[in-house]
Amino acid sequence: MSHPIVRFAPSPTGAIHIGNARTALLNFLFSKKHHGEFILRFDDTDVERSKEEYAQAIEVDLAWLGVIPDVVLRQSQRFALYDEAAERLRASGRLYPCYESAEELDRKRKRQQARGLPPVYDRAALTLTLEERKRLEAEGRRPHWRFKLDHKIIRWDDLVRGESHIDSASLSDPVLIREDGSYLYTLPSVVDDIDQTVTLIIRGEDHVTNTAVQIQLFEALAGEGSAPDFAHHNLLSSVSGEGLSKRSGALSIGGLRDAGVESLAVAAAAVLIGSSTALHPIGSLNELLPALDLKQISRTQTRFDPAELVALSARTLHGLSFESVRERLAAHDIAGYKAQPFWLAVRGNLSTFLDVIDWWRVVEGEIEPMSAPDLDPDFLREAAASLPEEPFDETSWAQWIKVLKERTGRKGRALFHPLRLALTGQENGPELAVLLPLIGKIKASARLSGRVA
Ligand code: GLU
Repeated sequence: MSHPIVRFAPSPTGAIHIGNARTALLNFLFSKKHHGEFILRFDDTDVERSKEEYAQAIEVDLAWLGVIPDVVLRQSQRFALYDEAAERLRASGRLYPCYESAEELDRKRKRQQARGLPPVYDRAALTLTLEERKRLEAEGRRPHWRFKLDHKIIRWDDLVRGESHIDSASLSDPVLIREDGSYLYTLPSVVDDIDQTVTLIIRGEDHVTNTAVQIQLFEALAGEGSAPDFAHHNLLSSVSGEGLSKRSGALSIGGLRDAGVESLAVAAAAVLIGSSTALHPIGSLNELLPALDLKQISRTQTRFDPAELVALSARTLHGLSFESVRERLAAHDIAGYKAQPFWLAVRGNLSTFLDVIDWWRVVEGEIEPMSAPDLDPDFLREAAASLPEEPFDETSWAQWIKVLKERTGRKGRALFHPLRLALTGQENGPELAVLLPLIGKIKASARLSGRVA
């Protein structure tokens, strides 16, 4: 597929979660892999529930994930296009006014169910005469507008699910415009997809049932065969099997970011979970491109376990190059000639990125002396006196340890543990051989002598 035009079309009614990120990334990466275009479209025709601050937060979350759109659209600014399309559908008899109230429709459905019939709208409004309509409107009723479906089988070759079909006769004619004149999602979505010449719609499988209606709308507005391709990916659920929701805030991208989860780990998890490629750490989004194959996406709902993500995030950090984190380190004043060797020394010990702050304090700042039973002052004094001359390099540690072994007879934990405690104030951490040159002789010596340094 060359130069596809794809879109991610969230309604800005809440914060996006890992499941939405999955849709966004599949679209974005697909456009990158095939040199296409990625549109971010805010489906904000529902003015009650849509909020500009949600739209902005979604852009921030996407940017954090590395998802940068080529084009950003807001449906709330495009009503003229939808009005024009609605007018054309009315003129061709495909959009018809209906006056039933919600209660009347409900009663109809109950009657159908009682008779064992599917609850499909009976098209009663199609038979209304002009007089009847006038009378209803005189009563103060306003119409909602339904799209008249062609009762035929709609087929499409879904890029994830394969050959798919829906019998339109089993569907109610969908309402496109509410009584108050506002648009439901369907018409604006198709109008924009036509206007933007979208060639492939990648979205969650909760939209499979909308596809027959939308294909018919594409054909009604832009002609036979005008519908784009569709790819409906499986959905993610929580560990307990519930669906994720924008409103509940569960597994929101912002929440994961605030918890210190690496964006590349979120992206890898969002794309790889529920595909045939095992979850693995990545150093850039581009590394996901080879694994990106719509055909390999599983067709069943996949449980998303945050514990797996936290572990992946740590593994991601352990492999990040200095270049890729240079700016983030600088934002915490971790810069200068030590920054690179520092990063390479500590990255393998990080659970979250902000752990660097504590380790930077160990090499550049001050730590309180430790008091632990096995911190024998005589041994530490001997250790301080045995420190080799500066400049320290990667061999300094081995020289020092050799001398200390000879002078004290200590080895193993009895030798190393007090040195680690005194030099770093921590029970565990990066190799002392790489930390020692970063800490330097003055600090090492002071800390071994029990001074704040
Ligand atoms: N606004 C719709 C949603 O958030 C877009 C669906 C689509 O991609 O067509 O689910």
